[in-house]
Amino acid sequence: MDFLPIFFDIKEKTSLIIGGGEVAARKAALLHKAGGRIRVISPHLCATLDSMLEKGSVEHIQRSYEDGDLDDSILVIAATDDSEVNRRVSEQAKEKNIPVNVVDQPELCSFIVPSIIDRSPVVAAVSTGGASPVLARLIRSRLESLIPAGYGRLAELAQRFRDKVKARFDNPNDRRMFWEKVLRGGVAERVFSGHMEEADIAMERALAESSPSSPMGEVYLVGGGPGDPDLVSFRALRLMQQADVVVYDRLVAKPILDMTRNDAERIYVGKERDKHAMRQEEINQLLADLAKQGKRVVRLKGGDPFIFGRGGEEIDTLSSQGVPFQVVPAVTAASGCAAYAGIPLTHRDYAQSVTFVTGHLKDNTTNLNWEQLAQPNQTVVFYMGLLGLPVITRELIANGVSPDMPIALVQQGTTEKQEVFTGTLATIQEVVEREKPQPPTLIIVGEVVELQEKLSWYKAPAEPKLGATTEVVGSYE
Ligand code: SAH
Repeated sequence: MDFLPIFFDIKEKTSLIIGGGEVAARKAALLHKAGGRIRVISPHLCATLDSMLEKGSVEHIQRSYEDGDLDDSILVIAATDDSEVNRRVSEQAKEKNIPVNVVDQPELCSFIVPSIIDRSPVVAAVSTGGASPVLARLIRSRLESLIPAGYGRLAELAQRFRDKVKARFDNPNDRRMFWEKVLRGGVAERVFSGHMEEADIAMERALAESSPSSPMGEVYLVGGGPGDPDLVSFRALRLMQQADVVVYDRLVAKPILDMTRNDAERIYVGKERDKHAMRQEEINQLLADLAKQGKRVVRLKGGDPFIFGRGGEEIDTLSSQGVPFQVVPAVTAASGCAAYAGIPLTHRDYAQSVTFVTGHLKDNTTNLNWEQLAQPNQTVVFYMGLLGLPVITRELIANGVSPDMPIALVQQGTTEKQEVFTGTLATIQEVVEREKPQPPTLIIVGEVVELQEKLSWYKAPAEPKLGATTEVVGSYE
């Protein structure tokens, strides 16, 4: 390790910046955030520093650097474009044992400024020892996505409860275990979703019961997206890796199910057309019961839970039984399939609106507003439409859509088994009979489908990805 990472309290002390350009301004802003008193020495100030001066965030000495300027400062940053000045500042600071940073000249620095992830009071700093600031920034952006913005609030909560927890647990080991549990579990989740009051209540309860495991668990209604594991959101992944139980059905792609915690209990609740492994009411109650046993439950859904996912019914039951829950949105089949097939759902020239409808047949018919779906300049996406395709094409044509209207059928969109079949309302049934698409399939009707040939970009990999399987679990058709 070439540098010692430390966090430095600069409040109420003078930090010196030599130079008045944009780089100096960025450093000044950073020092200001940390509560420093900042003195800028430079004949000129850039607009940013000027406005900081107006606000009283910095003081300004309007001249070039002179020997003796360093006295009484606790750190100095040289950000001039005069290498002679930079070198002199560095030498003099080192002589006086004042920490010095010279921008972009690591050999002149006694300290370097890391890339920072600021979730105050949580701060993570990344450095490559000056080797590559760009790499440090790349690492930082990866960390950014791993550390939810709510971590700052979580640290504040921990600070508020610190003394109480200390008083409750004498043994440092018990204390550590308690903190590990609450900082990872339901309390933390309530903080991340912005429910600070509930988090405080849960914290008090965990303390009072002295057993940190809260008697009430929580349900996470998580959308897993259309199939490609890359499309799973960070929030979904975090909750999937926390949950004690995973309740899933057929539409969840196997690689996505594999992203859940290894030792989590997995409960399959089925759903094939007309062959429900469990009735919807039973699923609703199962989720509530598991949470009441203190478990953190992920209810994992294909696509987005609020789009033809019956998510509303499930959380309705939870809400009326007082079970805490959260909903994690996801890429729905329409956006996933459209994007991966190269079919923009709206387009200035062809479609000013898009409608998502279910093509699910009840008693061999559908109850849709065909007149509305037949209007021009729109795209209509049918979920669960493969079996009803003859009805869909017949009704659209009967309501005035041209038999030549383009239509696409996307099989297992975003997965390695994706196929896109196109035709017209008049010809698509023949295509289906010839190609026999595998569910799940999504149907897109509209002129935008014509763009597919030109805009298609996604090639399903020839070999299954490592760790993934070709098996796509499920459909509602
Ligand atoms: N909640 C899901 C939809 C559930 S309804 C979502 O937001 O996507 C089930 C229907 O979604 C299927 O019948 C099919 O029409 C469509 N579907 C889901 N995933 C799909 C995929 N990967 N490819 C094509 N269609 C898909």
